[in-house]
Amino acid sequence: MPKVTIDSEACKGCGLCVSVCPKNILMMSEDKINKKGVHYARMIDQQKCIGCAFCALMCPDCVIKVER
Ligand code: SF4
Ligand code: SF4
Repeated sequence: MPKVTIDSEACKGCGLCVSVCPKNILMMSEDKINKKGVHYARMIDQQKCIGCAFCALMCPDCVIKVER
């Protein structure tokens, strides 16, 4: 199964990864913020990930890693 790792402290909360995920398994944390004070992206259902890496390609700050 593909493994997605998000460096939540480095995330700037732009939401681009959420918008491109074809499986809709990324979302912005609603109740938590990181040191930058933003609601960071998080994985909600790793099992549904198809490893397309669209999220990693889209992230402007390269904080997402996809291992296949
Ligand atoms: S690798 Fe593809 S399916 Fe998995 S979280 Fe990223 S965009 Fe979504
Ligand atoms: S695209 Fe990158 S910086 Fe933007 S919300 Fe997703 S992980 Fe955070």
